[in-house]
Amino acid sequence: MSDETEVMIGLETHVQLDTDTKLLCGCENEQDSDPNTNVCPTCLGHPGAKPRLNEKVIEEALKLAEALDCDVNEDVFFSRKTYFYPDMSKNFQTTQFELPVAENGNFEISLEDQDIDIGIKRIHIEEDPAKLDHVGGDISNSDYTLVDYNRAGTPLLEIVTKPDFTSPQEAREYLQQLERVLEYLEIYFSDTEFSIKSDANVSIDGGNRVEVKNITGTKEVEKALSFEISRQKQMTARGGEVEQETRSFNSDMGSTTSMRKKETEEDYGYIFEPDLTRQELDEERKSAASEKVPELPRQKFSRFKEEYGIADKLIESLISVPAMADDFENLAEEHEPELVASWMTGELKKTLNYNEVSYEESGVKTEWIEYVLELLEEDKISDRNAEQLLRDLVEEPRGPEEIVEQEDLLKAEDDEVDQVVEQVIEDNPDAVEDYNSGEEGAINFLVGQVMRQSGGKADPNTAREKILDRLEG
Ligand SMILES: [Zn+2]
Repeated sequence: MSDETEVMIGLETHVQLDTDTKLLCGCENEQDSDPNTNVCPTCLGHPGAKPRLNEKVIEEALKLAEALDCDVNEDVFFSRKTYFYPDMSKNFQTTQFELPVAENGNFEISLEDQDIDIGIKRIHIEEDPAKLDHVGGDISNSDYTLVDYNRAGTPLLEIVTKPDFTSPQEAREYLQQLERVLEYLEIYFSDTEFSIKSDANVSIDGGNRVEVKNITGTKEVEKALSFEISRQKQMTARGGEVEQETRSFNSDMGSTTSMRKKETEEDYGYIFEPDLTRQELDEERKSAASEKVPELPRQKFSRFKEEYGIADKLIESLISVPAMADDFENLAEEHEPELVASWMTGELKKTLNYNEVSYEESGVKTEWIEYVLELLEEDKISDRNAEQLLRDLVEEPRGPEEIVEQEDLLKAEDDEVDQVVEQVIEDNPDAVEDYNSGEEGAINFLVGQVMRQSGGKADPNTAREKILDRLEG
């Protein structure tokens, strides 16, 4: 911030996990199905239905706990958070309150070449409520509201930070770098139906804390916080006091509106959940989860920097797509790392983004990329045609040899150019005479003719040299 306002921000982030089944029942964890088709007595809250814990979720939580450097609690249990609303037909949410899976962690993020430590207060498991569909408007003015219980019981990991952010930019950067870690851990993927939602606690100059709810994704948080901070500043500048309250972020308007005066955690009347057994998170379970934690983005960044010595920007771009980073390493064994990285993160990635297809799903094979690199290294293809070839490989995946042949993308061989030069000189005696009588511009005409007759494959400089050799030799 450019002025002297002291800003304190903490985030509570809910990550929907990409597990096969829901947290407490065997229903498919699939939100895009027809409404209310992935439901059962347990996730509909029928009396007498008993929950059963999806142990996979514990494993995912332990993986994240390790990645965020947290202490794992050995003996954890679940609690019921009482609340009455149509999106939670049990009238309580199964969550963790007293003893979460993990606490006291740290996540180091980088922003503009600075490393910033963000304290992690806790990571806990809970279930997502159902989805409310306000038909014909929003919560305050819709004609009626539909409830879809497909989402009821989707496993969530809630990650609560300490109030360590001092700007909206830091909060955005944290969420983006957290999302990458979640993808590396393979517990969440940004290109699926699942999402990340955050609530932010924000205060200025030691004033009252306002909670901003409903911030979806990783980029919106900057917009929501910037609005809220300037609202609080304006309020105090006018001599008013910021009230402790909960506000809702409206993404379309880019503003926050008051929802309710803030309730405290005690208001929810947490009680112990007797239907779920206590979970012992012993060494065996921790190390089983630990084995599934791969090299994380920041470690990979440092290693790439040291091993390959390529530009930070190239590394950033590579590690944002783990499969691409892996293929880069394979290709960099035989080829110049700078060349491999710049082609993978350049034209290839640009085309993938343009076609909205992921690297893994594109069908582009590593050996195809290697083929293009070899053509470049052997100077058999121009940069322009190599770009064309990569675009074709993404748009219509097939063997690059075939494309090169069909589209005639290779540079002309030397003797092929020689032949064209020979022919052009023979066919244009007037231009040759003009050149010989001192009109040097005539050479450009001849070069143009060579380019035209070779279908653009001859290199113009080579063509010029060859014509001059021939005319002056
Ligand atoms: Zn169910």
